[in-house]
Amino acid sequence: MTKRFPESGATTAEPALEPLLTELARSVRGNGHVAASDGASRIPARFARTVPLGLPELAEQQVVRHFTHLAQLNYSVDTGFYPLGSCTMKYNPKINDRVAGLPGFADMHPLQPDADTQGALRLIYELERLLGGITGFPAISLQPAAGAHAEFTAILMFKAYHAARGDTKRRRVIVPDSAHGTNPSSAAMCGFEVTTVRSDARGNVDLAALEDTLGDDVVGMMLTNPNTLGLFEERLEEVIAAVHRHGGLMYGDGANMNALLGIARPGDLGFDVIHLNLHKTFSTPHGAGGPGAGPVCANDKLAPFLPVPFVVRDGDTYRLSEDRPQSVGRVRAFHGNYGVLVRAYTYIRNLGEEGLRACGEDAILAANYLLSRLRGAYDLAYDRPCMHEFVLTAAAQKKAGASALDIAKALIDEGFHPPTVYFPLIVPEALMIEPTETEPKETLDAFADALVRIADRVKTDPAAVHDAPRNAPLRRLDEVAAARRPRLHWRA
Ligand SMILES: *Cc1c(COP(=O)(O)O)cnc(C)c1O
Repeated sequence: MTKRFPESGATTAEPALEPLLTELARSVRGNGHVAASDGASRIPARFARTVPLGLPELAEQQVVRHFTHLAQLNYSVDTGFYPLGSCTMKYNPKINDRVAGLPGFADMHPLQPDADTQGALRLIYELERLLGGITGFPAISLQPAAGAHAEFTAILMFKAYHAARGDTKRRRVIVPDSAHGTNPSSAAMCGFEVTTVRSDARGNVDLAALEDTLGDDVVGMMLTNPNTLGLFEERLEEVIAAVHRHGGLMYGDGANMNALLGIARPGDLGFDVIHLNLHKTFSTPHGAGGPGAGPVCANDKLAPFLPVPFVVRDGDTYRLSEDRPQSVGRVRAFHGNYGVLVRAYTYIRNLGEEGLRACGEDAILAANYLLSRLRGAYDLAYDRPCMHEFVLTAAAQKKAGASALDIAKALIDEGFHPPTVYFPLIVPEALMIEPTETEPKETLDAFADALVRIADRVKTDPAAVHDAPRNAPLRRLDEVAAARRPRLHWRA
């Protein structure tokens, strides 16, 4: 078999992977399973191709086996535990996919008239209200296609809000040093400067540092709660009050809503706007850039600036409206990522209020259980009870000869997807673990056992940990080359 990535920079011999279809085709060209197309004859001569298209010729079963082999190389939530911190890789009930695949939803055309799509519009209308109940906000847009897209939309709304009041001197958005990278990026994409504020010794926003930087040039602040250290901001009310005192707006990054489900509502906590990640908290399969949805939830002050279109209800009928004169406009075509909305609706209706609260509570319980199992083997970045995730530091292990990256690779040999590493940036050798509410205790124990085993191995034989993974289809790739010199297409 052909080596798949000859330039990957892998340091040791690796097992052969699946060849490309073009490589496979060389040995089977003209086997008769694919009939030569006579379509060319019906195409006017001046449009006809003069050189062959160069598609590989393959038998059907070769194509099926090729893609099945590739799929078997994947690790997914459906094949094992996936504790990727800040990503909420929970198990997604299959009924969500069944419902999203119903012909009435899946075969709808985005240009169908409202009269033909009443059920679909009603689902949007009701999902907005369900999410409003969960988050404590009166107005919601389901348009943005991801978390980062929602952040961008909300910061545009901040800009529009200040502009509508004739306040154009505000230039700065404040972001804590623990924030997800999309926060400063979204602020910068809207043309604002980013001011970073540090975290204090307990992992909260440093209130004194925040007060120092606040002024009448501040657009607002973007805050994640629980923050990306998995900690609840202990002085949240004071932080929000300080920003508001200076005329700034408060943005809540709600991608971590899994910890708050049914327990606390960001709208009640004083945020002006938040976003949700339906593909994380509300159970759509994600990763590898799959479709998402990032609803923006706004209080009365910011509601007039939400994107269009939105669904209005007149008696028993539903229609799309653009009647929102101060809106930031359209941020996406048509109805948003509709299939993701159907999954979220199904998920919420299936669980009900009690079920959602149980999710939040179990997510927190699972994280604290794992934390307690790992506390002796690894140092904690901040030694506090956590919310839905927690951050370990492998700084001591690094001194002994195996870094956070090595430990992550060793976990692959143990049969687990690694946690998030080297994020948040303020924790050296970070291992960020989010178990979610969907795993049984047996899985959590097996994972903890594996991490403890690795910590023990670091003490006795760090070189072995540094040499992992040994059992993966590929071992260590040249990540710099993958980013800087990606080979994205085949050349003869
Ligand atoms: C995932 C995440 C985002 C970005 O969401 P995308 O849908 O990937 O764009 C933003 N903030 C936090 C805290 C996240 O975990």
